[in-house]
Amino acid sequence: MTLRARDRFVIPEETASVAQEAFPKGNIYMTMSDKLNIWYQDSDFASLFAPHQGRPAESPGRLALITVMQYAEGLSDRQAAEAVRARIDWKYALGLELIDSGFDFSVLSEFRDRVIAGGAEQQLLDDMLKQFKGLGLLKARGRQRTDSTHVLAAIRKLNRLECVGETLRAALNTLAAVVPEWLLEQVTPDWFDRYGKRFEQYRLPKGKAERERLADTIGADGYQLLSAIDADSAPGWLREVPAVEILRQVWAQQYYVQDDQVKWRAVEDLPPNKLLIQLPYDAEARNRTKRSLNWTGYAAHLTETCDEETPNLITHVETTPATTGDVEMTDTIHAALAEKDLLPDEHFVDTAYVAAEQLVTSRTDYKLDLVGPAPADSSWQARSKSGFDISCFGVDWEAQTVTCPEGQLSKSWRPREDAGGREFIEVHFDPHDCHACTSRPQCTRAKGHPRTVKLKPRSQYVALQTARQRQETSEFKERYKTRAGIEGTISQGVRSFDLRRSRYIGLPKTHLQPVVTAAAINLTRTVAWLEGTPKAQTRLSRFAALAPST
Ligand code: SF4
Repeated sequence: MTLRARDRFVIPEETASVAQEAFPKGNIYMTMSDKLNIWYQDSDFASLFAPHQGRPAESPGRLALITVMQYAEGLSDRQAAEAVRARIDWKYALGLELIDSGFDFSVLSEFRDRVIAGGAEQQLLDDMLKQFKGLGLLKARGRQRTDSTHVLAAIRKLNRLECVGETLRAALNTLAAVVPEWLLEQVTPDWFDRYGKRFEQYRLPKGKAERERLADTIGADGYQLLSAIDADSAPGWLREVPAVEILRQVWAQQYYVQDDQVKWRAVEDLPPNKLLIQLPYDAEARNRTKRSLNWTGYAAHLTETCDEETPNLITHVETTPATTGDVEMTDTIHAALAEKDLLPDEHFVDTAYVAAEQLVTSRTDYKLDLVGPAPADSSWQARSKSGFDISCFGVDWEAQTVTCPEGQLSKSWRPREDAGGREFIEVHFDPHDCHACTSRPQCTRAKGHPRTVKLKPRSQYVALQTARQRQETSEFKERYKTRAGIEGTISQGVRSFDLRRSRYIGLPKTHLQPVVTAAAINLTRTVAWLEGTPKAQTRLSRFAALAPST
């Protein structure tokens, strides 16, 4: 294998002439090599290799490019290693001699492990983006759009009984490897019957009472093991074994002890899904229900450019546990784009990414317009359509007063904080005014109390009201159509790159998959753009095309 650290790949003459003969019109990798000159610097990945180990046997820059090419074609590690060894177009793109014998396929998974351990996964996309910028294919301050999709964990979903059983089995398997003699002293023969095989291979009881009895038995076994681990006689380091730590967390979530009896928690006593461990082998995966979809795993957020004059390129990828709300990612995405000097002027998102706070920070911190439907007012007054919702009240921020639809002035104005530390202003009206008011049924249902209004801080209040008014205009509706294109990108990621099914276990490894997928999509799109292939348009059915324009 002749992969060696170097600044860029030089195509050997013999490789070039054979490739040009084999592909007289070129192919994706030859265009990539000739027109884009996509390559990664070995020096960018040098920190992943310990200095005392000397120079890595293979060029890290080439391995990074091979990883992207592997994703672009959906190849396994073995197939990718075979492509390096046998395919002329790959040798051309990688600048390898025809006789180069390649490397063992395990090198690719070792490289990925190093990338993840070194936190360098984002670099596989960001280095490519820098080159696109240099070529004028990508610029800041245009238009971008973001959407998210679910990503299933690599491990199948477990029910509660399977989860506790597998959690204890995973801890026993780990301890059996590191302290076999110690473990044998802690368990009785019936444990081998209960935890010898995967729980899915057992016929678990169907009746509720029997299932609860088995769950209690597993719970008591788990507590017995944890007590033995916590005893002074046990090696202290056992408490830090990751499988033991997960056992401890799962037991705290699923069980409680009452009168020295281990009890399985009722479903309503479980922690929220944001905290609840679902899979002992992938403890960061979370379960979420979104509309009609329920999944256990993660969510991937893709952001791409959508300007007419350049190809649509993915500029950023975030991966989160499934339960992380989209709105929690809005500022994170903006901060990451600012770091890359790729902030847009307009950022199109769906309503899940929009909240009053994000509307303000987008303007003040990132100087961009967050274009998406603001969340609707969920008060009963707004939902009834005829009630006095917040938009019916006039606010005088200087005088710190609010005027109600009946023209009455508020009596008090108190700045407060909610349990999450968010500021708001609580405004009360005079009880005398409200009790005598004929519009009271439209205004408040609080028996015997006057109307209270909660206001967000001024900047957020104004931003939210302005956004709600703007989204009713036809100009906004026309402009907002731009957002829909991101669904085509997610569809491409799902159909061509299996984006919704994690290949790996754990959040850091799962994140690598959408990042490399994004790099592969960028690569194929840019080559298509350079070859003059028009951008794909959103498909319209024949019937939908007949609809009269409004
Ligand atoms: S109930 Fe009170 S706040 Fe509401 S409209 Fe009547 S006077 Fe105004």
